[in-house]
Amino acid sequence: DSMTAVLFLDLDNFKRVNDTEGHKGGDELLIKMVERINHRLREQDTLARIGGDEFVILVELVKSKNNIENLCEALLETISKEFIINGRPQYVSSSIGIALYPQDGITPDSLLSNADMAMYDAKNNGKNAYRFYHRKLEAHAREQMDIERELRKAINNQELEIYLQPKIGLDCNQILGAEVLMRWFTASGESIPPDLFIPIAESTGLIKKIGEFAISSAISLLEQWQLEGIAPLKLAVNLSIIEFQDEHFIDYIIESISNSSISGDQLIIELTESIFMENKEKMSKTMHKLKHYGVAFALDDFGKGYSSFSYLQLLPIDYLKIDKSFLQNVITDEQSAAIAKCIIDIGHNLDLAIIAEGIEDQETLDYVSKTHCEMAQGFFMYRPMPSDSFTKLIRKNSHAK
Ligand code: C2E
Ligand code: CA
Ligand code: CA
Repeated sequence: DSMTAVLFLDLDNFKRVNDTEGHKGGDELLIKMVERINHRLREQDTLARIGGDEFVILVELVKSKNNIENLCEALLETISKEFIINGRPQYVSSSIGIALYPQDGITPDSLLSNADMAMYDAKNNGKNAYRFYHRKLEAHAREQMDIERELRKAINNQELEIYLQPKIGLDCNQILGAEVLMRWFTASGESIPPDLFIPIAESTGLIKKIGEFAISSAISLLEQWQLEGIAPLKLAVNLSIIEFQDEHFIDYIIESISNSSISGDQLIIELTESIFMENKEKMSKTMHKLKHYGVAFALDDFGKGYSSFSYLQLLPIDYLKIDKSFLQNVITDEQSAAIAKCIIDIGHNLDLAIIAEGIEDQETLDYVSKTHCEMAQGFFMYRPMPSDSFTKLIRKNSHAK
């Protein structure tokens, strides 16, 4: 007995090839890639292009799941090898979703859509991977779609609200500013955490609306405080790398600053290091464009994930935020303390100001003071709060002086 598999294959970073080599260059890469794929297929297999960089492969009469796994591995490997386009090397990777006949579907439509769903699962798991369809994916996909639909409504119905978490200067013990953190309170009073809705907003493009809302809310608060005569503070807004790579979004930030009464140096943009920062030259150019208006940059969650020191070298960063996972253990765990100390030293040697986040107790606060971090943020001092509460807090501090 043998089985039939439907493979849904999608390139992970084909857009970049089109952007740098033009559509002709992109087409050339696709042609070369198809040759490589065909080389791995047998006579009875069928390869079809069903979209720009989307392909479907019908693999008939396979003996075992293992054979399909081997094929997928071979495909991932051959596709990820260098392509020479216009004399320059280009690299792409691919994500493959697999649906099996008959267990995963008996109609062409259901097989295709289930293979597609599995392909998204591969993408969500870091790309350059293959995944088999399984039933749980469906429930997950439905949940994501529900959240997306609700989030779309939430943005229109103004269910999003910014919270502010104070940042304390460690040498002056004063509030120097705050980080803007997005909150979603549904009409039914439920609170949905950003860790849940931000990734969905990122994958659906809704993130730009959220970013615009964060930027415009931050600027109008700064203007309000300015009118009240409160000493200027800085607000830090989190932006996803997706927004940051969008020129319209960058223009939106610049226009918003230009049309306001605040000074651009009151804004800090927090970026999380990510694998998508691959085009560092372009990143750096965009950052310099904003720096021209005074905007500063913080590299968030440093030490977690990809942590490439080359970011520190190539990107015009002003602040380094040590990931809270290191700080939360500095008192009990010598290794975390060693890593934290190392990050602090590197930051200082590169003339960056260090922000210690996730401070939950006096001991950790003492540690970050002792190691000369510039700023601290955490539940121990203040939790994120509604902007009204923050305004009251800084009014009080202003009068106290
Ligand atoms: P983040 O940028 O690392 O933000 C810090 C997170 O740590 C916040 O979680 C904050 O509430 C939490 N936190 C602060 N002090 C402490 C502490 O002492 N202990 C602990 N355990 N946690 C602390 P939150 O607000 O749930 O946000 C989660 C993540 O969602 C943020 O991580 C950020 O990556 C993302 N996010 C939030 N708002 C936005 C936004 O407007 N745009 C984008 N793109 N991402 C956002
Ligand atoms: Ca942040
Ligand atoms: Ca962080």
